[in-house]
Amino acid sequence: MKDMEELKELNRDKEEFERKFLASPRVAENYAFLQEIGVFQVIESLSREINSYKSLLSRGLDILNRTSIDEIMDATVYQISDHFLPSFIAFLWKPIQNRADITIKSYKNYKPVDIDLHIDSIAAFEPFFLQFSRPINFDLLAFELDNEDAIKPFQKVHPEIVIPILGPFGLYGIILVGRKILENDYSPEELIFLQQLMSFVSQAIKNHLHYEHSLRDVKTGLYNHGFFMTRLNEEVARIKRTNHPSSIIVMDVDKFKHFNDTYGHLAGDVVLEKLALVIKQGVRNDDIPSRFGGEEFTVLLPHTDTHTAWSVAERLRESAAAMHVPWDTPLPRVTISLGIYTFEQGSATDSTEIIRRADTALYLSKRRGRNRSTIWEPGFASKKPYEGEPA
Ligand code: GH3
Ligand code: MG
Ligand code: MG
Repeated sequence: MKDMEELKELNRDKEEFERKFLASPRVAENYAFLQEIGVFQVIESLSREINSYKSLLSRGLDILNRTSIDEIMDATVYQISDHFLPSFIAFLWKPIQNRADITIKSYKNYKPVDIDLHIDSIAAFEPFFLQFSRPINFDLLAFELDNEDAIKPFQKVHPEIVIPILGPFGLYGIILVGRKILENDYSPEELIFLQQLMSFVSQAIKNHLHYEHSLRDVKTGLYNHGFFMTRLNEEVARIKRTNHPSSIIVMDVDKFKHFNDTYGHLAGDVVLEKLALVIKQGVRNDDIPSRFGGEEFTVLLPHTDTHTAWSVAERLRESAAAMHVPWDTPLPRVTISLGIYTFEQGSATDSTEIIRRADTALYLSKRRGRNRSTIWEPGFASKKPYEGEPA
């Protein structure tokens, strides 16, 4: 509020100065002289510059205030196309911090489209951009990099400008801007505008990625325990207001200690990564698949009844058992055991109790011989030791 007051005060001062300046007989007397030495031109050009910074700031803030990565990209394309129309804009970023995998989203004529760009990794650009952290002409980048394998996939789309997204974890992504449609090259002013706008864009994308990373498990890229609990608590609160049931599935790898002891912890890690992928691909977009800890995974299925949750669990169980994991030596198939609990108005509506019940069902799956799913039922006693577990 204090800032607003100060701003108003400044504006009042400015208006007062302008009024005095123009009304002053001495200005009128010396008008020709002031014009000759260029005072009015300087004022005019300064005020144009101020306006362009104001516009940049409002465009930049519009981008920074977006809450999803899609919104950030849509807003960027919209803000750029107000100035000129590039043949395409493509965003390439690493959704998971410590993995090379790249997600690509491209736009033509303001609309998301698929472009002919197939890239597995942008790692080859990282050392260059860590030294030179600014937008660069693509041909110049190709020359500087002198790495044909890294440049080749980009040649078909031939970007004009490459903008790095950099942060504490290195190169998070790059943004490609194609040549201008219809017109000739970018003017120096346009390049400066792009460079300035893109520093807001890369900040916005970086903020978003940091937030996303804070919700995820580093090893598997699934949601982490904390985020799962937050979403479960939200779902529990929502359920009290609606008539739709929701479900959770908890699962645990069978005899995984033995697997690790036999094939090594590293092979075990690769199994967990692959299993995470199977789980992610086996659920809907609205579901929350997470790594609960160690070799235990959970899925929250909002708006899902027991019957559907059972089908999902069985599908996950079958996919896990059919999963092939490439490794130096042939690995045996791993299986998982699952427990299902459906909660709705009037049933257990406390997140700890919900997890405890799903867990009880999971333990029953273990007791009944593993590689199976069990739905919680009211008569189930809580955990008892089962074969393989110390009593
Ligand atoms: P069961 O669940 O079928 O009763 O047997 P289990 O052997 O899987 O059960 P237990 O809970 O005794 O062992 C879990 C094992 O999972 C022990 C631990 O070494 C392994 N594990 C947990 N987290 C990881 C991980 O991140 N990587 C690897 N490789 N192993 C892990
Ligand atoms: Mg376990
Ligand atoms: Mg286990």
